[in-house]
Order: sequence, then C-alpha cells, then structure tokens
Amino acid sequence: MSFVVAIDGPAAAGKGTVSKAVAAHFGFAHLDTGLLYRVVGRVALEKVGPALDEAAVIALSTKVSEADLARDDLRTAAVAQAASKVAVIPEVRTALVEFQRKFAARAGGAVLDGRDIGTVICPNADVKLFVTASAEVRAQRRYQELADRGENTDFETVLEDVKARDARDSDRTVAPLSAASDAIRIDTSEMSIKDAIAAAIAAVDSKHG
Ligand code: C5P
Repeated sequence: MSFVVAIDGPAAAGKGTVSKAVAAHFGFAHLDTGLLYRVVGRVALEKVGPALDEAAVIALSTKVSEADLARDDLRTAAVAQAASKVAVIPEVRTALVEFQRKFAARAGGAVLDGRDIGTVICPNADVKLFVTASAEVRAQRRYQELADRGENTDFETVLEDVKARDARDSDRTVAPLSAASDAIRIDTSEMSIKDAIAAAIAAVDSKHG
C-alpha cells in the first residue's frame, strides 16, 4: 500500500534532514526532488552554457534518470542557482512530474521533499508538512555547510543567494513555492533539528497509525 508524505519549504529550512529522518523512522523511500532540478541545471551548465537556452534545457529535462541523482557534483552554489533558473520553465516542470508521481506511488510509503509536492505533485498526500525558517537563519546554515565543504564564500553572498532563490521560487507563475492549505507548518528558526524531527514524526504518526 502506498503512503505519501509531502514536505515542502524554502532552501535550507531543514526539510532535507527532516525528510530523511521521517523516511528512516517509518521505513519509507525518500526522494529529494530538488536533485531533479539540480541535475537539469548541472547538465545544462555543462552542455548548454550559462545562458541556459530554453529549448535545449527542456530536451535535457526529459532524460533525467534515477542514476543521475547520485552524482556528487550537484550541491554547489552555482548548481543551486542554475536549478532555480531551469525550474521556472513550465515544460521542465512538466517533464519531471511523472518521475515524481511514480516514486510517490511505490508500495511501502514515500517521502518527497521539494517546493510543490503538497500543492501540485501529490495534492492527495496522506500528510503534508511545510518546513520553514527565516532567511537569515537559513543563510547561516547554508553558509556553514558550504564553509565545512571548503567552498570559498561569505555570509552576505549566501544570504543574497538565499533571497534571490526565494524570490524566484515564490514569484514564478507555475507551481510557486507555497504551503498547501492543509499543510502542517514547522518553523525551525528557533527550534533544534531534533525537535523539528520529533514534530514531523508526530504529525506523520497521527495519520499513519
Ligand atoms: O531543494 P534544492 O535547494 O535542492 O532545490 C534546488 C532548486 O530546485 C530550488 O531553488 C527550486 O528552484 C527548484 N525546485 C523546485 N521544485 C521542487 C524542488 C526544487 O522548483 N519540488
């Protein structure tokens, strides 16, 4: 039987960590849907160049496979920006819908995290969570992550990147970042990750039984 948990929210709010923990706790499969857009963004940067010609990007997005998601070069700031640029192209989003819905339908349960899971990809999800935090807190976390990986950057640049991505994700006309009306909101600005995970597990538990 399938059971779907949809977890949406802006960049670096903690939804990846929460999603992994929920999936592990309940034995569900987990799909980080941001990776799909990152694969398209990465390959587009390599093959099409920074101008990201639309027709070429759309063609690339139809070829994303599960194996691509394991690439180890998807987590850079440049790829994040490219991902959010290709994600505004309606045909790219459409090309990635089937992959996500198939994943959600698998037996044994699935957690999908992204920006439009509860609103567009799985509007009938069994549980919907919206994990968020202030832009400053999210930028601080992302900065720490990048610094730990040895990327040469500063807090102000990361904060600007976070705000630019927020604006692009929220203002696009197709599938903008927004909480579903029936989503449970978890604000992690002043919450430990442990408490955020506990809140998410409790929300899923109440429906999963
Ligand atoms: O979550 P992550 O930061 O990896 O996502 C990269 C970009 O992909 C986001 O900024 C967003 O523009 C896009 N995205 C999206 N819809 C999703 C997941 C990610 O538009 N479901």
